[in-house]
Amino acid sequence: MSGSEGFPQIPLFDLQLEPEDLEAVAQALRSGWLAPGPRTEAFERAFAEHLGCAHGVAVSSCTAALHLAYLAAGVGPGDEVIVPSITFAATAAAVVYAGGTPVFADIIGPEDPSLDPQDVADRITPRTKAVGVVHMAGYPAPVRELRALCDEHGLALIEDVAHAPDAAVDGRRLGTFGLAGAFSFFSNKVLSVGEGGLLATDDDRVAALARRLRDHALSSSAWERSQATEPAGYDVSELGFNYRWDEPRAALLLSRMGRLERDVARRRELSLAYRRALADVPGVVLPYTDDAVMRSSCYVMPIVLEDLDKQGPLRIALRERHGVQTSLLYPSVHEFTAYRERWPGISLPRSERWSRTEVTIPLFPHMTEEQQGRVVAAIRTELAALDGGA
Ligand SMILES: *Cc1c(COP(=O)(O)O)cnc(C)c1O
Repeated sequence: MSGSEGFPQIPLFDLQLEPEDLEAVAQALRSGWLAPGPRTEAFERAFAEHLGCAHGVAVSSCTAALHLAYLAAGVGPGDEVIVPSITFAATAAAVVYAGGTPVFADIIGPEDPSLDPQDVADRITPRTKAVGVVHMAGYPAPVRELRALCDEHGLALIEDVAHAPDAAVDGRRLGTFGLAGAFSFFSNKVLSVGEGGLLATDDDRVAALARRLRDHALSSSAWERSQATEPAGYDVSELGFNYRWDEPRAALLLSRMGRLERDVARRRELSLAYRRALADVPGVVLPYTDDAVMRSSCYVMPIVLEDLDKQGPLRIALRERHGVQTSLLYPSVHEFTAYRERWPGISLPRSERWSRTEVTIPLFPHMTEEQQGRVVAAIRTELAALDGGA
């Protein structure tokens, strides 16, 4: 790629597939069976084993997995689910799909945009049914504290692990601390294949519910009927959904999963290198710690600006003068039109400040030192220019 001024662009994220990935997908296509079947089952087993949990249920997206997880937690009309506002909107939307009300809690602060357990505790009411925690940017949220809080109040803990495959706390993988964990395999995630998700759980009942509801609550799947020796019918036992995926993406996931740990190791190296290179830049706060990097999947690299007026100008300058693509993770969900109109008057000062000062900078496993050096130099130059009014 080439920028308008002739320099190569540095994308926020870049996906590199290997020949073995393409061959795995071609084999799945050549098999002539595209609906969920043996490759999907093999991936579910492999991913659950990687996590160290009993069940992996493959679904069409992380959003679908979150919806099923909240339903499994018994969330319905009149129930409240405490969620962060610094997250992708799906964390809260899935609560609404289940008929529940999202109650937004604030983050810890600029050094850790995780859900603040104290603020969660303050928002628990008799109507609270569950807490939805997000492991932002791949870094573990205080999941043990939140689990203890949920246990104390009889609430379900649901983990949105969209950013954090392969991340762990004390050797225990994220996505296994609550009733269910919801993973994403969307195009720009750590383990990306286009679209896809997975619900992880140790609970047999939750797994059975997710397996049933992902396929219209049919009493047998198309694959099972194709394998039956006698003509087979099916019943529909309750209202289900089409949250299925297909075999080619299971094949791509199985192939890519073999490189997951290596990819995450590289993301950690690059994140540590960014931390060293940006540590002394005036006006920049680096969230998290070097130790936290080693527990993280390092999905993205967030930096936070001390000043409230620099986020927009910096992002424009990086893009226009250096070809560096950036993003904002995230605008606060409670400030989006759809949420503000339905649940007005919410104030979350730390989340709102994060939304106005965070800048997500490029990070992907095959990023080169040269590219990283250019991003760092561009940030230094443009922040100095903004400070000096140059
Ligand atoms: C991407 C994302 C989702 C949604 O994942 P899909 O697979 O696209 O449905 C949910 N939560 C967070 C935090 C995400 O980043």
